[in-house]
Amino acid sequence: MSRGVLAVISGFSGAGKGTLMKRLTRDYDNYALSVSMTTRAPREGERDGIEYFFVDTETFKERIQQGRMLEYACYCGNYYGTPKDYVQEQLKAGRNVILEIEIQGALQIRKLMPDCLLLFVTPPSAAQLKSRLEGRGTESPEVIAKRLARAVEESEGIEAYDYIVINDDLEECVKQIHSMVQNARYTPARQETLIKEIRGELNGFSKGAE
Ligand code: 5GP
Repeated sequence: MSRGVLAVISGFSGAGKGTLMKRLTRDYDNYALSVSMTTRAPREGERDGIEYFFVDTETFKERIQQGRMLEYACYCGNYYGTPKDYVQEQLKAGRNVILEIEIQGALQIRKLMPDCLLLFVTPPSAAQLKSRLEGRGTESPEVIAKRLARAVEESEGIEAYDYIVINDDLEECVKQIHSMVQNARYTPARQETLIKEIRGELNGFSKGAE
């Protein structure tokens, strides 16, 4: 069985990544969504162990020191990170793992696992992003301003990603992401065994023909 694809999804706050990921895991089999750890306070309705593992800063730092985080970053004053064990177990079991993380984390993952897939989700325009953030009603105007400022920085890093996903039509986007993940299974880096086999056989044939 081949290892699953590690797909990293980033995008501006308010781009609709959460909804996309929920739909992707609902509509298709073989996806595992990694639950991150954060020091940010839960929003109304968020449950520990479902949206995030909510911890204090001391616990978060301990996990880093114990080498139990695959990556981590500080975003708008809070720590966010990916617990290592779950991701490795799921990939080994052949499942595609989705990490919904910001850009610093995405770049760390690319270094650690160069054959990962980096996707950047954006609304069709900056005006739509602003109105989505305001319409969500879960953040104060100060937090929205911080997140918009952060979006300016993040927009500088988009070129590091493999694909841009324009979140205009939800159904279409979910299909697009799924086909990108499927395609990533067939990059040469992920097909080393097949390549070795074919090379071996070809060598055998060419020797026979000598
Ligand atoms: P939010 O507070 O809106 O849930 O998340 C804020 C930002 O942190 C989002 O861009 C989200 O993708 C990112 N994020 C969530 N979990 C992680 C993580 O485990 N690692 C990193 N690097 N970023 C994360």
